[in-house]
Amino acid sequence: MPWVKENDCIGCGLCVQACPVENAIKMKDRKAVIDNSVCTRCGKCFDVCPKNAIHPNSENPFLRGRGIGGGGRGRGRSMGRGFGRGIGRGRGGAI
Ligand code: SF4
Ligand code: SF4
Repeated sequence: MPWVKENDCIGCGLCVQACPVENAIKMKDRKAVIDNSVCTRCGKCFDVCPKNAIHPNSENPFLRGRGIGGGGRGRGRSMGRGFGRGIGRGRGGAI
């Protein structure tokens, strides 16, 4: 499930031209929009995008960790939680 980072998309339409699946990616308000119900995740749009605006689902901060799409990607959530807690506590007030 690729997704388009709208702020990076310049609306060039290269991804639409490169996509082999009809209607998998369209332009809407000069931004590319992927229809994940038909997208085959072939990755061609990733390759042609000059702005690197298309990302795989594993990099989607909104979907990460929900397990959508399968394929084994997107794991590893919660890593690092709690690190560093407590450091610097106990300031005694002595100057
Ligand atoms: S991953 Fe492939 S099928 Fe999906 S939108 Fe990109 S080019 Fe089209
Ligand atoms: S190729 Fe990249 S910059 Fe161009 S329309 Fe598609 S997502 Fe936007």
